[in-house]
Amino acid sequence: MRIARFTNGSDPRYAFVQSENGRDYLAVLGGDPLMTPALPTGERVWLDEEGVRLLAPVIPRSKVVCVGRNYAEHIKEMGNEDLPTSPLLFLKPNTSVVGPDDPIVLPDWSTEISYEAELAVVIGRLAKDVSPEAASAYILGYTVANDVTARDAQRNDGQWARAKGFDTACPLGPWIETDLDHEAADVRSWVNGEPRQDGNTRDMIFDVPYLVSYISEAMTLLPGDVILTGTPAGVGEIVAGDRVEVEVGGLGRMSNPVVRRG
Ligand code: ZN
Repeated sequence: MRIARFTNGSDPRYAFVQSENGRDYLAVLGGDPLMTPALPTGERVWLDEEGVRLLAPVIPRSKVVCVGRNYAEHIKEMGNEDLPTSPLLFLKPNTSVVGPDDPIVLPDWSTEISYEAELAVVIGRLAKDVSPEAASAYILGYTVANDVTARDAQRNDGQWARAKGFDTACPLGPWIETDLDHEAADVRSWVNGEPRQDGNTRDMIFDVPYLVSYISEAMTLLPGDVILTGTPAGVGEIVAGDRVEVEVGGLGRMSNPVVRRG
């Protein structure tokens, strides 16, 4: 099941994304399926209709928890030798989230911005001290994330809050997929149509159930919180005028233009 958040001119609404004869439509839902049972209203909106736009499928309720250095080949390309013995966690504020086709706005204080394609986990139930075996019961579904990073600020600041937390540094989309094989999903990116990353979640050092458990032992996860699970090798720079695409196989692809404030 695919759950999207969209607008066709009015306030954001939720919908199931369904297909008829190869054409996607939105089966509109009443309320917010992250908080209340999803009730279809009977209204149907074609995804390719004029004025219909997908939004970030979730505005994280309290936080985006991110995992650094979770793929060995990416650790190597960043010049680190040792594999981590426990997940490296950092946070992005929910104000950094944007949706499909929203611009990534390069901050004036950085000259080195990178993309990072990642599988994102959307939490569906309050989770505290959850075991890896029980983790799946707390997951609503999955979406695609771009962990946009100001690499120069990441090196210079010591802490990563500014480098990874600036406005527009967390594109999420195109929707939440509730049925995904998170153990063997391709994670890919392109810049201006040119392939850049081609990894697979089977190469994660810490898998999804372990991450949900590990994070929940430190901080309570709320419904609508999001976990970014790390990026495979192939990261690189984006500049104003580029278009960056990130994809998780079996889920979907999200595209964002890159701009610099004029
Ligand atoms: Zn990342």
